Amino acid sequence: MKILVINVGSTSIKYHLYEMDTEATLASGVVERVGSEAPSHRWRIGDQKGEGGIAAATVRAGLDGVMAHLTSGVLADRKQLRAVGHRVVHGGEKLIHPAVISDEVKRVIRECAQFAPLHNPANLEGIEAAQACLPDAVQVAVFDTAFHGDLPPRAFTYAIPHELYVDGGVRRYGFHGPSHQYMAAAAAEFLRTDPSRLKLITCHLGGGASVCAIDGGKSVDTSMGMTPLEGLVMGTRSGDVDPALALVLARRGMAPDAIDQMLNRKSGLLGLSGVSSDFRDVERAADGGNDRAKLAIEVFVHRLRKYIGAYAAVLGGADAIVFTGGIGENSARVRAAACEGLLFMGVSLDEGQNQGCRARAGGGVVDVSSRSARARVLVVVTDEERTIAREVARTIAGPTAARTRIGGASVPVGVSVRHVHLSRADCDALFGAGHELAERRPVSQPGQFVCRETVDLIGPKGEIQRVAIINPLRAETQVEVARTDAIGLGIDAPLRESGKIAGTPGITLRGPCGTVAIDHGVILAHRHVHMHPDDATRFVVKDGDLVRVRVDGDREGVLGDVLIRVSAKYTLDLHIDTDEANAFRLNNDSVTTFDGVQ
Ligand code: ADP
Repeated sequence: MKILVINVGSTSIKYHLYEMDTEATLASGVVERVGSEAPSHRWRIGDQKGEGGIAAATVRAGLDGVMAHLTSGVLADRKQLRAVGHRVVHGGEKLIHPAVISDEVKRVIRECAQFAPLHNPANLEGIEAAQACLPDAVQVAVFDTAFHGDLPPRAFTYAIPHELYVDGGVRRYGFHGPSHQYMAAAAAEFLRTDPSRLKLITCHLGGGASVCAIDGGKSVDTSMGMTPLEGLVMGTRSGDVDPALALVLARRGMAPDAIDQMLNRKSGLLGLSGVSSDFRDVERAADGGNDRAKLAIEVFVHRLRKYIGAYAAVLGGADAIVFTGGIGENSARVRAAACEGLLFMGVSLDEGQNQGCRARAGGGVVDVSSRSARARVLVVVTDEERTIAREVARTIAGPTAARTRIGGASVPVGVSVRHVHLSRADCDALFGAGHELAERRPVSQPGQFVCRETVDLIGPKGEIQRVAIINPLRAETQVEVARTDAIGLGIDAPLRESGKIAGTPGITLRGPCGTVAIDHGVILAHRHVHMHPDDATRFVVKDGDLVRVRVDGDREGVLGDVLIRVSAKYTLDLHIDTDEANAFRLNNDSVTTFDGVQ
């Protein structure tokens, strides 16, 4: 299966072509100065390298040029491409998984351009060019923000009036997702440990720079914020400053665009040193006695060490610190200075290994810590494009196979993650009298939504924190879990239709304002298909029927005992829980097939 990954910026198109069966890179290249008179093209196919021009007045023309180049060398024709993976910087709260491009996905990417005004419009142009130029390929967007989609609220929330988040999406999103994700996977492989058992601090230090705290394979905190400006000192970006700085400058008469330019383009290493945004130039100047360049490096390293310490506290210690990016990979000085004084957290470098580290020549991962150190320090050659290609392959594998089945009518899948429906009284007890639950995102059934608030579930054997609440309120509180959850909680939850909770076991719920012990209400939800009466006519079924639904793909099978629920309020959706979805490798993009009444 061949996958093309493209990263379209405001004036360039970067591309990588992979054979995913072997994960070999077949070709890569970059077209620069797109839109100008004299665009350039640097390329590599296997061991061959070259340069040349591509007529690229527009992104579409540039991409056509790239495809002409690839089909004259490594591809027989354009139809050989199974999918195109698009690197998209900002997916906001709605797009936290790779998404097959649809009008709705494009709309959200456009909406998120408010937080990434330079990147998202260019990324979208790339998507539209690829749709026109490669109509037979599946187009998939993979987001820089997505790896941080599970950040807990305590890490993503800014301490400003909460409405700004609820109504305006102002929060930490985090970036460099594919790179942090790649580092986590590479470190786990190198350390021969399951990612779920590792606490990692990953440092991406390139032109842009960010640190990420990764616990069990998930990002739990990261230094970039609502935009890529926050956090570390970067080539031209300031990273953290007092937010009042912008106000002081505005009051002195500086226009918002000029402040933006100053913080994003004229600060960081460049602004501090006055020499260059390129770390090598700044190092050279510092070595030549330039005091501003020396200060620039000191500030850069101090900020980095501060974040490493902070994330060690967030994680409760770290098994490894991982460095990547042009600076992280190449600067022994930065790694040594960043790790200095971190012996208290088990970090100690082997000076020789650190100085001589050649990660590119060393298989992509090199351990530069001293043998006896409790925590590892790894240098990794990151590969964001490969991560994107893997994500694209994962996205199109199961669901697309399932979608190809012809014959019976298609039934889309909605995976119900464990959740709670609350009564008014229990909502009051958990969140305060008269509390109105706030919308986080809509669910597939019209009028219902996942709330921003969550509750903790406390059972006799275990707890589950931050469980979703689904609005609207109901007459009685009901807790829907998967069987794996129920076992962890120590509750023998029976299989029930939603709403039929008499005689079921109880549980304790914990919210910010108190706890509530319900004496019944915990169920495993009976799998069911929601449908509109028009669908019922089409499927020749009625409310209450039990049907079978087929799943194709690599975990093929049949789901029996699926309950039909018909209402004019419903749209067609098969609702299964996470255990069922995982057993059949289904997700919210999957489509199953109606297989008849039982
Ligand atoms: P980008 O984020 O633009 O992809 P890179 O990851 O290539 O950038 O990182 C670019 C940065 O890496 C520049 O600041 C560059 O000076 C720095 N860099 C590259 N090689 C070295 C080196 N040998 N020593 C120190 N810094 C280096």
